[in-house]
Amino acid sequence: MADNADKVPENVSGDYYVDEECTGCELCLDRAPTNFKMNDKKTKAFVFKQPDTEEEVQSCEQAIEDCPVDAIGNDG
Ligand code: SF4
Repeated sequence: MADNADKVPENVSGDYYVDEECTGCELCLDRAPTNFKMNDKKTKAFVFKQPDTEEEVQSCEQAIEDCPVDAIGNDG
């Protein structure tokens, strides 16, 4: 389970975030490309835009489900 006390610094504020457990596999970029990006060093993903449509919410929820290390959280 993701830890909201251990977020990667690049996340925009809001319910969805990536934490430091991220291994940089990029799967979440495939699942929700309008919400997740890699950081400049390509080591960790982060949420660059919070989902604001039902479709984006579904994509982010799919990213949470599929992240192999449970590094994506939703505090909503
Ligand atoms: S799917 Fe998980 S481990 Fe992979 S880049 Fe995204 S947050 Fe990181």
